[in-house]
Amino acid sequence: MHYISTRGGGEPMTYTETLLEGLAADGGLAVPALLPRVEAETLESWRALDYAALATEVLGLFATDIPRDDLARMCRAAYAPETFPVAVPLRPIGGGITLVGLSEGPTLAFKDMAMQFLGQALEYALEKQDGVLNIVGATSGDTGSAAEHALRGKERVSVFMLSPQGRMSPFQRAQMYSLQDGNVHNLAVDGVFDDCQNLVKALAGDLAFKRAHRLGAVNSINLARITAQVVYYFWAWLRATDGIDDAAGFEVSFTVPSGNFGNILSGHYARRMGLPIRRLVLAANENNVLDEFFRTGLYRPRAAAQTLATSSPSMDISKASNLERFIHDLVDQDPVRLRDAWAELDAQGHVDFSEQQSRFTEEFGIVSGTSTHADRLATIRAVHEGSGEIIDPHTADGVKVARGFVEPGVPMLVLETAKPQKFAETIREAIGIDVELGPELRALLDAPQHVTEIPNDERTLRDFVQEHALR
Ligand SMILES: *Cc1c(COP(=O)(O)O)cnc(C)c1O
Repeated sequence: MHYISTRGGGEPMTYTETLLEGLAADGGLAVPALLPRVEAETLESWRALDYAALATEVLGLFATDIPRDDLARMCRAAYAPETFPVAVPLRPIGGGITLVGLSEGPTLAFKDMAMQFLGQALEYALEKQDGVLNIVGATSGDTGSAAEHALRGKERVSVFMLSPQGRMSPFQRAQMYSLQDGNVHNLAVDGVFDDCQNLVKALAGDLAFKRAHRLGAVNSINLARITAQVVYYFWAWLRATDGIDDAAGFEVSFTVPSGNFGNILSGHYARRMGLPIRRLVLAANENNVLDEFFRTGLYRPRAAAQTLATSSPSMDISKASNLERFIHDLVDQDPVRLRDAWAELDAQGHVDFSEQQSRFTEEFGIVSGTSTHADRLATIRAVHEGSGEIIDPHTADGVKVARGFVEPGVPMLVLETAKPQKFAETIREAIGIDVELGPELRALLDAPQHVTEIPNDERTLRDFVQEHALR
């Protein structure tokens, strides 16, 4: 199994090579040269496996350069009960809808699912080549904390995470800044998220500096994260079809609250691998560039300045970095057509795929919808009244959009991308209840915080990285 760039350049890469690289050498994204197929009997033979064992099977199809025993050990460590006390529970909430619990990890959001595996895989790859890596990233909340919790205490990796000063929720701040590990460096930048991202880009764009200081990234285009997310689509299908006599070919639909198109891309890959998925429902918030794209075929990404700040903030993205991998499939994996499409986008600010629009649903099973602040509040309220469950605002966007696509006899599985505790204010606004925090979370909010405040200045960041980087 090897990996190629969506833009056609460079040499084929192994799984481990894609792990340590961010973008492919030609600016494209690494994609599997050929997706593995999973036949019905194989799928059925996985039914009795626990989550870590299933992850070993599914990831084993991708990470063919990692010996099976090593991979199994990494999956056991990533999905250990200490990290995920319950592994991906399914909870029906009525109306044909079931939640897939992806937020049982240390930072209460689904990014833990992939990041915990990535932490193991990075450590493994670095040990093999006796190297070190300094991760420099920017976060508006969820990605940074998931990365820090996955990499804390690792000997060969350090993390420099930039966050916008005063712009994260108290809970998000506590999750990151309370970490005491020497390899975790929190940098609060006097600026907004875009400023943080620009600083990171400036450093990563300086190839000499990047090489000299062994800089790396763990952002949402990382292929290991995409493949680790494929696992839970298989898991959810197996659990949803437990007890069905002849489950082969039994179709379920998934709804995915989406931002960077990473999570739903994993579903798209699972479907192409042969998992019986009827619909992949993309749920957007008010930043609904992707909803427009899937409904009309017109792709019109917006500038950062036109991105709205919403009450489902982890979906406030107007240029989804993983969409390129889907477009690559849409242009039948032809790098020339892909580059032409992006040239058109650069020239006109939009690119028109409307002639292909019928394929979105017919061939790829993808449909989409938008949810607004009012929808979010109404859905949190309705789900609470109907089932007693409190769902977070992102999951509420999913449930709202899913309702329009429920079909008789087809289970609708909505991915729960965060826990309500992370977004207490919106929950209070919706149902007038303060979500309960367990003793651990209360202690977290009170713990001493470690953060270095820096100006929005590249020089200062360079000096800091230079001084603290592993070498
Ligand atoms: C990151 C995130 C999303 C969006 O996921 P993508 O893979 O970027 O589409 C949705 N909800 C929550 C809570 C998130 O943290």
